[in-house]
Amino acid sequence: MASVVAALAASELPIRLNARADMGSPPGLSTHLSWRTGDEALTGRTWMQAQQRAVDHAIVVSIDGLRPDAIKRWAGMLDQMGQEGVRAVFAETLARSLTLPSHASMLTGVGTKRHGMRFNSHRPGRGQVQFPTILRVARAARLHAAAFVGKRKLNHLVHRDGTRFTVGGPFCTQVNRYLLPYLSRPRRGVTFVHYADPDGAGHRDGWMTSGYERAVKRVDRCLSQVIEAVSAPGRERTLFLVTSDHGGHDRTHGSARTEDVRIPWIVWARGTLPLEIHRPVHTTDTAPTILRALGLPLPHDVEGQMVPEAVLKRLPRQLVSTLRPL
Ligand SMILES: [Zn+2]
Repeated sequence: MASVVAALAASELPIRLNARADMGSPPGLSTHLSWRTGDEALTGRTWMQAQQRAVDHAIVVSIDGLRPDAIKRWAGMLDQMGQEGVRAVFAETLARSLTLPSHASMLTGVGTKRHGMRFNSHRPGRGQVQFPTILRVARAARLHAAAFVGKRKLNHLVHRDGTRFTVGGPFCTQVNRYLLPYLSRPRRGVTFVHYADPDGAGHRDGWMTSGYERAVKRVDRCLSQVIEAVSAPGRERTLFLVTSDHGGHDRTHGSARTEDVRIPWIVWARGTLPLEIHRPVHTTDTAPTILRALGLPLPHDVEGQMVPEAVLKRLPRQLVSTLRPL
């Protein structure tokens, strides 16, 4: 994994990279992005070699404020995905369990010090995340990248590089109004989905209350609609990673206590072989896992670790066997 050669994925891509790490940055990537953005976060960086891709489309679903212990009780669809897929039992987010810093770590694979998202509100003028997100790397490879979210402040995680950014609203049904039509066409790339409902109910009524229960049931129905939207034949090479930015207790979160930092982490594709992971998985492991599944290069200085069980060992044979060599 410590390879010093950076290469951007498969031969049908318009750019191929072959740069030595000591040259600083992969020329194809930097060229492509410098005319687009001139962004140092991508260009002044070394990359680990791209590998074969396992899937065409990765959909990362973050359910804001969803505690894993709510899934068995109230989220039948997600519980089923966890039974059928790869599920990390002890997944955690940052000790400072807040929405914007946590999502920044989820989508970049580095901690707060590196990505620079220390605040937790929409602050126009404060700029974008300082470390490449999975959306940004996908765009650099000229794949589709889109974010459909419930909160405007997540705009800090999306660059103006052709990534679609849509704020649906505080309810997942509002997000799905935009997301489902987008998914009606096959996509190659990354889609980030953010549902805010459980967090809103947790602050209003308290975590694990009846109001929170209703919100969890609602997002479970929204998730079912998303699965349905990509269930047509030919869409099998779609991977879901369902997780959360933090949990909560009473009517709050943000601390390092277990109820706040424990998060769901479920990887599912049609036909995945089930597996429970009992070693700790951190939210910074999400980005490298997704990049690896899509056969995209990893930033050399990423802090999270790819979870190999999720993308190499448990995917159904028919997905893996259709891989084309680089
Ligand atoms: Zn909150």
